[in-house]
Amino acid sequence: MEPGSGAAPRILVVEDEAAISLLLTYNLEAEGYGVARAERGDDAEVMLAESTPDLVILDWMLPGVSGFELCRRMRAREATRDLPIIMLTARGEESERVRGLSIGADDYVVKPFSVPELMARVRSLLRRARPERIAGRLQAGELMLDRTARRVRRGERDIHLGPTEFRLLEHLMEKPGRVFSRAQLLDSVWGDAAEIDERTVDVHVGRLRKAIVRGRERDPLRTVRGAGYAFDETFGKA
Ligand code: CA
Repeated sequence: MEPGSGAAPRILVVEDEAAISLLLTYNLEAEGYGVARAERGDDAEVMLAESTPDLVILDWMLPGVSGFELCRRMRAREATRDLPIIMLTARGEESERVRGLSIGADDYVVKPFSVPELMARVRSLLRRARPERIAGRLQAGELMLDRTARRVRRGERDIHLGPTEFRLLEHLMEKPGRVFSRAQLLDSVWGDAAEIDERTVDVHVGRLRKAIVRGRERDPLRTVRGAGYAFDETFGKA
């Protein structure tokens, strides 16, 4: 995994037509997104159970599980309930489109589509869904993380973090209050290739805590027994 790639939005392309899938992958990668591909609905479902991307481009007619059914199942699962979904439909599938939007797809494009237009929709959906991905800074009370400069400050104090601690803090700060399991953190912060022991997460959270909390300062990281870790959503608000 490249340094800093933890912040690049990841997109899952579910499309059984190889030419379209390649076209999408090529253009999405050129825009700096991380791309995973599935040709079948059931394969996509397995991938989604393992890791949650930032956006899904979903073809409607798929072998295995249909795009419609996959969309419905994604909306029923906690981890993918708010995941932005753009569906791809063929001309003449107007009724499918209405059905798709009614079960929670966020947007659709009709094939053959214009690549720049689809890229614009991807950007706009990501911006709406994850404004924190775009914002250069994450701020909670006196704690500030600057993605662009890769700096962290608490009040007037500069905090020096290793790359893993930086990504860990960034990930937790993006969703204040949300509890991430160790497995989810390994997946999001360390990346797919991680065959790492879950206790590694505890070690890095420990280091992160030590760096950002001095003396009697308040600890913004919550350890949730048996569940994982969260950034305290009340931090800086009380
Ligand atoms: Ca298809």
